[in-house]
Amino acid sequence: MCHYSKELSERASKVLFDAGDSTSRGLDVLNTFPPYLERAEGCRLFDIDGESYIDWMNAFGALPTGHAHPAVVEAAMQAMSTGAHYAAAIPQEIDLAELMLKLVPSIEKVRFTHSATEASMAAIRLARGYTGRNKILKFEGHYHGWSDSMLLTTKPQPITTLGHPNSRDGIVDSSGIPQGAIEDTLVIPWNDIAALERIFKDKGREIACVATEGIMANIGIILPADGYLDRLQALCQSHDVLLYLDESVTGFHVAPGGCAELYGLDPDIVTYGKALGHGFPLAATAARKEIMDGTDWGTGMHFGTFNGHRVGVCAGLAGMRALHVDDNAGFKHLVSIGEAVVAGMRDVIARHKKHTIICQSAGSLFQLYFTDAPLIGDYRDYCQYVDSDKYIRFADHLRNFGLYLSPRNTLHNSSTLAHTTKDVDQTINAFAEALRCFE
Ligand code: PMP
Repeated sequence: MCHYSKELSERASKVLFDAGDSTSRGLDVLNTFPPYLERAEGCRLFDIDGESYIDWMNAFGALPTGHAHPAVVEAAMQAMSTGAHYAAAIPQEIDLAELMLKLVPSIEKVRFTHSATEASMAAIRLARGYTGRNKILKFEGHYHGWSDSMLLTTKPQPITTLGHPNSRDGIVDSSGIPQGAIEDTLVIPWNDIAALERIFKDKGREIACVATEGIMANIGIILPADGYLDRLQALCQSHDVLLYLDESVTGFHVAPGGCAELYGLDPDIVTYGKALGHGFPLAATAARKEIMDGTDWGTGMHFGTFNGHRVGVCAGLAGMRALHVDDNAGFKHLVSIGEAVVAGMRDVIARHKKHTIICQSAGSLFQLYFTDAPLIGDYRDYCQYVDSDKYIRFADHLRNFGLYLSPRNTLHNSSTLAHTTKDVDQTINAFAEALRCFE
């Protein structure tokens, strides 16, 4: 079993950097070699060694309708067979933008791009261009892509190396980032109103925007404390700082209008990625009209041959419609499946004696932590209380029981339109069996 995947992984490690295409799939997050996949359908993945898995990772949340949803496939095939991309105007980009804008009232204009990293880079440029200020405030454990200025304190570190929570200097997460690129990025703990108030008092008038995930989805799933996002929004408004909400993961997973809807926020800039393209590289930066119009946007600030790629836009539109027709019936299914799998896992965990695990969730998103703590409330809690290596081993072990979860628990799991309650039952039985014999 797995012999062909093993062979491929040995070949891969010779020719591919980190044996994969993203650090989140690389050697660092694997206990052993990965199964090499060749086919997927609905909520099931099939590897080249003949094994199948119920997929709860779903391309890190990029597949809210599941694999090969018929409407998405049809739209993509139709687009491909009539010319994959024109780099020119197409009606579907308007349809998709209109659909998105209906979901979040505070945003009025959209620019499509490919990856959420690019969307985030555009958001930062837009904020700086509009406000004439340079500083960006971000939070520990929040990930906004791998651009130089934002790759600070995104990955867990030993708690003793984190420094004082008031320091505001992030930890640079990669070599090759020049000091100049990060000197305007301030980093503070999230979910900490006192830290917020301190930084706004000191630097509020120098900050162009605050970048935040509405729910942390890159240190597992961590919810905002009651009133935290409201306070953040109020401080932004009183200091003329733009609120940039990164919905790359939460968009179309926690509520039709993402965290903006769930927490009643009026963000100035929002970015989307992942779920927007339903398996195709599609992302977007959206903002209030005067912010987009108040810059040279479109004439000199942001380009891209493949922006708004025709296949991705058409597939994304079909997928979005599948989720939102009939009063968001598809979306409600997604959430009810997410809630059911979380309830089932919690039930198994509560009856289990050997390992202490908690499951944190929001809408369709969930994650497991091996920890004795009752709650992981921020990045520092994760660094201090979570056994992340044990999770890596567990995710690997789960694959032997036919379950594919995110390989590392800084990342997230999600439900899709394709999962049924039968898949949930099968998952919970396999989960219980896997946990029973996990060392
Ligand atoms: N923002 C958030 C909140 C993300 O989770 C991610 C990806 N994990 C990104 C931005 C970057 O997305 P991409 O991988 O599409 O560049």
